[in-house]
Amino acid sequence: SLKGKTAIITGSNSGIGLGVAHELARAGADVVLNSFTDRAEDHKLAEDLAAEHSVKARYIQADMSKGDECRKLIETAGACDILVNNAGIQHVAPIDEFPVEKWDAIIAINMSSAFHTTAAALPLMRKAGWGRVINIASAHGLTASPFKSAYVTAKHGIVGMTKTVALETAREQITCNAICPGYVLTPLVEAQIPDTAKKYDMSEDEVKQKVILERQPSKEFATVEQIGGTAVFLCSSAAEQITGTTISVDGGWTAL
Ligand code: NAD
Repeated sequence: SLKGKTAIITGSNSGIGLGVAHELARAGADVVLNSFTDRAEDHKLAEDLAAEHSVKARYIQADMSKGDECRKLIETAGACDILVNNAGIQHVAPIDEFPVEKWDAIIAINMSSAFHTTAAALPLMRKAGWGRVINIASAHGLTASPFKSAYVTAKHGIVGMTKTVALETAREQITCNAICPGYVLTPLVEAQIPDTAKKYDMSEDEVKQKVILERQPSKEFATVEQIGGTAVFLCSSAAEQITGTTISVDGGWTAL
């Protein structure tokens, strides 16, 4: 059980982050939810999660595109046994047309945020004598697709950071790994469907099956519960010697 452990999940008012938070809470961890907004509904997500799993939960606003706010998230939480770097955005365009501000935002949110949160969290993990850093990378951390230069760069970057942090903590009871999901049907993926449907003159269902799941041999989306379950496994004693590596949850994508 993860009772008594505090998990901070960045970008967790939606999608995979929220799913991971639920699975860690189901395993007994207290959780800190985060995003850049500060709405009543964000705080309500934490209240509902606490009630559902009988754990402590709070929502802390912090913008993961800003290094100082990443560090402040960890400081404000005050404890961090499990850090899940999950916040991420996507933008799709050929590299010669890729908007510079989108490039900067993707590199900041999907990659550099993990540098700042990890730097702030490691001293707390060392004090506690135990820690788990789990980076939500992607199949795009291991392979590429056209028109996703910033995303693919950031995700390959975070896989590299994962290995480095693992080496720096190898003699401690701290591990650092990356989960590499294939396609999971979350708002991030749903947002890409209407444009793609227009581009290929297809229905949205056809886009899901023929375009999105084209790369995923199982022809099924992975679920947020499966990503959360993988995170819980990485926190278990069975995973004590698993560090500096990637775990794909991608229906066979990276086997192709
Ligand atoms: P999502 O859009 O549902 O979730 C993204 C989360 O990040 C949201 O909670 C959002 O509020 C938060 N966020 C965005 N900008 C932020 C900022 N500046 N500061 C703080 N939080 C911010 O998408 P998702 O699919 O759940 O994505 C979560 C992670 O999983 C991302 O890193 C994504 O790259 C990765 N991923 C997703 C898929 C997929 O198919 N959905 C596949 C592989 C990897």
